[in-house]
Amino acid sequence: MFWCEGFVLKTRPMGEADRVVVLYSKEKGKIGTAAKGCRRPKNRLAALVQPFTKGDFYLSERTSGLHDLSQGSIIESNQNLRDDLLKMAASNYFLELIDMSVETEDPDLDLYRLINLGFKLIGLKTDLNLTLRYLEYRLLYTLGWGLQLQSCVGCGLELKEDLFFSPTEGGLTCENCRKGDEVSLSKKARAILIGFDRLHPRTLLRLKLDEADKKELEKILRQAWDARIEKSPKAWQFWKEVSSQEI
Ligand SMILES: [Zn+2]
Repeated sequence: MFWCEGFVLKTRPMGEADRVVVLYSKEKGKIGTAAKGCRRPKNRLAALVQPFTKGDFYLSERTSGLHDLSQGSIIESNQNLRDDLLKMAASNYFLELIDMSVETEDPDLDLYRLINLGFKLIGLKTDLNLTLRYLEYRLLYTLGWGLQLQSCVGCGLELKEDLFFSPTEGGLTCENCRKGDEVSLSKKARAILIGFDRLHPRTLLRLKLDEADKKELEKILRQAWDARIEKSPKAWQFWKEVSSQEI
């Protein structure tokens, strides 16, 4: 048996009273667990396995299938993320990107920290669109897919004018290195994206962007992500629906 600190990444019902709970933990990375009986009334695991909960989880060593989750304690319930439809949709989308991108039991402390930061930023609800752009961008970087926006990904030529972004190459390409999937990138959008590497997120989230900037950043990051994952995350559509009605 062992303890790990982690976040509830996703859950689904199993059998009559149980739940499969996938955690992202500091010690083991993504890890599948079975919370037996947690759907029964007054079960002590019920609160612990709510989506987005940060907790200490006590797990059995796995013989086959899932680790048994037998006890634990809540560090942060993150109830505020579940109580607000927009925050919930944003958090679900952020976690689905992670779930789709990482292997099981391959720990990454930087990713763990990014989840922690992501929940804090979404909780602030300053500008959830910009928050998600920041998280999409930082998540690419954390997973080793960081975008190259200073110079050509093909030949390293420094680029200042006429910027073209290739989603499959994950960065800018010069005229000679273009492959045909490029989209134009404005200087302003590039400057904002580069700012995502340098600015403190709380400073960054005070940026005021106009609609065209927001649309461009969304398009670039959506394409960058779609080039990295096999299918669009389901939670993206839900986020788009609720955010278009409420923002
Ligand atoms: Zn080039």
